[in-house]
Amino acid sequence: MTLLTALQGGSGDAADALRISDGPGLSREQLLGAATAVADRVAGAPALAVLARPTAETVAAVVGGLLAGVPVVPLPPDSGPKERAHILRDSGAALLAHAAADTPPDDAGIAGLPVDLRERSATTYAEPDPAATAFVLYTSGTTGAPKGAMIGRAAVAADLDALADAWQWTAEDTLVHGLPLFHVHGLVLGVLGALRTGSRLVHTGRPTPAGYAAAGGSLYFGVPTVWSRLAGDPEAAARLASARLLVSGSAPLPVPVFERLAALTGHAPIERYGMTESLITVSTRADGERRPGSVGLPVAGVRTRLVGEDGGPVPHDGESVGELQVAGPTLFRGYLNRPDADAEAWTADGWFRTGDVAVIGPDGFHRIVGRASVDLIKSGGYRIGAGEVEAALRDHPAVADAAVVGVPDEDLGQAIVAYVVADGSVTGDQLTAFVAERLSVHKRPRRVVLVPELPRNAMGKVLKKQLLAQSAAE
Ligand code: ATP
Ligand code: MG
Repeated sequence: MTLLTALQGGSGDAADALRISDGPGLSREQLLGAATAVADRVAGAPALAVLARPTAETVAAVVGGLLAGVPVVPLPPDSGPKERAHILRDSGAALLAHAAADTPPDDAGIAGLPVDLRERSATTYAEPDPAATAFVLYTSGTTGAPKGAMIGRAAVAADLDALADAWQWTAEDTLVHGLPLFHVHGLVLGVLGALRTGSRLVHTGRPTPAGYAAAGGSLYFGVPTVWSRLAGDPEAAARLASARLLVSGSAPLPVPVFERLAALTGHAPIERYGMTESLITVSTRADGERRPGSVGLPVAGVRTRLVGEDGGPVPHDGESVGELQVAGPTLFRGYLNRPDADAEAWTADGWFRTGDVAVIGPDGFHRIVGRASVDLIKSGGYRIGAGEVEAALRDHPAVADAAVVGVPDEDLGQAIVAYVVADGSVTGDQLTAFVAERLSVHKRPRRVVLVPELPRNAMGKVLKKQLLAQSAAE
């Protein structure tokens, strides 16, 4: 299906098909009318930036840009002046759409486009070139400065088709989430996925356990931090028992959280793995096996392979690690204004280097070990996945969260340092002794540092660069 039919095609006709935060409920017809009014005002613009607060106006602006074939650039509402200036300049956006009630930042330097949901239009638009850019989405900036990923219209449509198929997602469903609307997870997969399938969407404003518990959905999206909080609130979690699917994505879901959530809700969560650049690469089907610690199988049409440091193939034996590379219809077109990043990201035969290290089993199930640049620690001649050390620490009942980094070390190359959030009943030395019983010598942390919380971004990703800088300063 084309992106245009995906946006207009869903068959649900609920009066409150779309409810964002505490805004009014809108029917699909009302939303599309308001979006078309935006399309009429932006048609022909080089790109449309959207101040992506969680409001129905944001959704109308995004859909409006897509209807008119104008590349949409969601702007994180809390971005600082520097990030904002970079995104607006880099993307070449000519207009900044915002809810009429919102004041756009006065340093934006481009014309504002207030969106009023009462404005409606019935202009019909034709699908532009399917290769044209639907979105410029900025990556989360976990490993470097955020990069603008150009996502083609056909790739977005392929993602939405793949998810509808994998999760048997239909107009009978109500999707609940409270994720940011500037990231692929909440906006493209969440909001557009609901439009594509015709399901209702309840956006809770923020992804809180109370909000999720009260929403009464069948399909729930969250990042691991959201699920971890829910797993710590048994009463709220129990209210998700009537749901159909709980889906985690954007960062690794710790196995203890998977298990607690399954016990409290009766639903083993599904893990979705992907990235801004390739939206969805792998997932588990609704009726498929849910294996803790695994992100399952590639979605329809997507191919994956593992490549070793020597550039050669790595066997899919469930043990050998390699860099995960991806090909298929869901891939992005390339980075905007970043020929250097493109040159690094693509192989000569057109596959995308994810930068993630993974293991693939003989049955095709994928396990993400971490990011090549920060999660693969080279210490004393060994290659150690940070995730394995983190999992050993999380096995301790007093540990709530753990992140492991490799800090430069004259002797070992890199030394393993663990940052741990614990409940106060345990010391760093006790944790060192605890993991010593579980990990071979070369995998044991040199230092365990207790911290009140781990630095994370809005998508729940641990900012390991920040931890490395912190450890350099210590
Ligand atoms: P940048 O590319 O700017 O460094 P980023 O890679 O964090 O930032 P995103 O595109 O938002 O930006 O995140 C994609 C990354 O998130 C993946 O490459 C992977 O490392 C991680 N990720 C996403 N989903 C999962 C998952 N289910 N399990 C493990 N890791 C995941
Ligand atoms: Mg990335």
